[in-house]
Amino acid sequence: MVKARKYVVKKHFEGLPKRDDFEIVEQELPPLKDGEFLFKAEWISVDPYHRAYNPRYPVPYDQFAFQVGTVEDSKDPEYPVGTRVIAHRGWSDYCIIGPGHENPNSPDNGVHKLPDLNGLSPSLCLGAVGMPGATAYFGLLELCKPKAGETLVVTGAAGAVGSLVGQIGKIKGCKVIGFAGDDEKVKWLKEIGFDKAINYKTADIAAELKEAAPEGVDMYFDNVGGEISSLIIHQMREFGRVAVCGSISAYNEAPYKMPKATILQLDLIFKQLKMEGFLITRWLERSHEAYEEIIKWINSGEIKVREHITEGFDKIYDAFVGMLNGENIGKAVVKM
Ligand code: NDP
Repeated sequence: MVKARKYVVKKHFEGLPKRDDFEIVEQELPPLKDGEFLFKAEWISVDPYHRAYNPRYPVPYDQFAFQVGTVEDSKDPEYPVGTRVIAHRGWSDYCIIGPGHENPNSPDNGVHKLPDLNGLSPSLCLGAVGMPGATAYFGLLELCKPKAGETLVVTGAAGAVGSLVGQIGKIKGCKVIGFAGDDEKVKWLKEIGFDKAINYKTADIAAELKEAAPEGVDMYFDNVGGEISSLIIHQMREFGRVAVCGSISAYNEAPYKMPKATILQLDLIFKQLKMEGFLITRWLERSHEAYEEIIKWINSGEIKVREHITEGFDKIYDAFVGMLNGENIGKAVVKM
């Protein structure tokens, strides 16, 4: 018998999630049936959408999340013992995967074998070679359609998605300006090739952006929403493109009390801007394209990846709240 642990969300979050909103539940897993395998998580992801999706689900629910791990026991010939797998079952150390074991609250029930990572850490399948990587790749290339010589601005720039967006923008020949929440992040962004990085917590955002992009902004990859986005969009050039990826500045706010920001309509009209929101699930079938390209870029040194690693199943909550508070540089992951 295998003892498994999982995080269950007991209460809807109010503001920043509290430790008490979760309960760690232990259960003995039943013996495997035909078509099932026992999955042991080695890496678990903490992501902003774990906060953003919370109001949508009735409580209690099992906290959903991507995990990378190994098949420990198997009655599924497709997944023999030792197979490396990425799954979206949640903040759990062991689980049974097979028909009837889906997580109903999971936006992606997919279970996949890990791609050939060419020697890179499997944990990257939670970041650059996983959902955040595909988000950066398709959000930027499909919606912003970068051209060499154009100016790209990205917020949440030192995070999992933002740091890739900026580096892909550089590969495409753009001038890249990133906004992040502290000076260490700003320093790192410059090291990985951003032309300009700005600490949005201490800077005069409009003035520093004007100085960095006197000719205006062609593309804005928006990870955070709110007033900083209005300030950036106000400095866009004619026919600029805005990819609305995330709105983390509002995730801890109550759905009925969303913050207000300066209106955008005048800029959208007079500059004939195109602004489009997206969910990465739109390109689910094409994820492999992003992964193959990103693996090549990592191997060639054109993309640098960084992970913010927290250790231990008991520390998943701390890693989650730390990420929401901006403690991570690069992808926030938990090592089991
Ligand atoms: P990150 O690795 O960027 O981590 C979150 C970061 O958000 C923190 O490090 C912090 O950085 C920043 N942040 C927190 N609070 C605020 C705030 N009030 N204002 C501005 N920034 C804040 O996360 P991801 O890269 O995984 O995700 C980035 C964004 O992309 C999120 O909004 C997420 O929801 C979205 N997303 C959307 C997808 C889609 O399909 N549309 C798919 C995946 C992600 P700092 O120190 O700079 O403040």
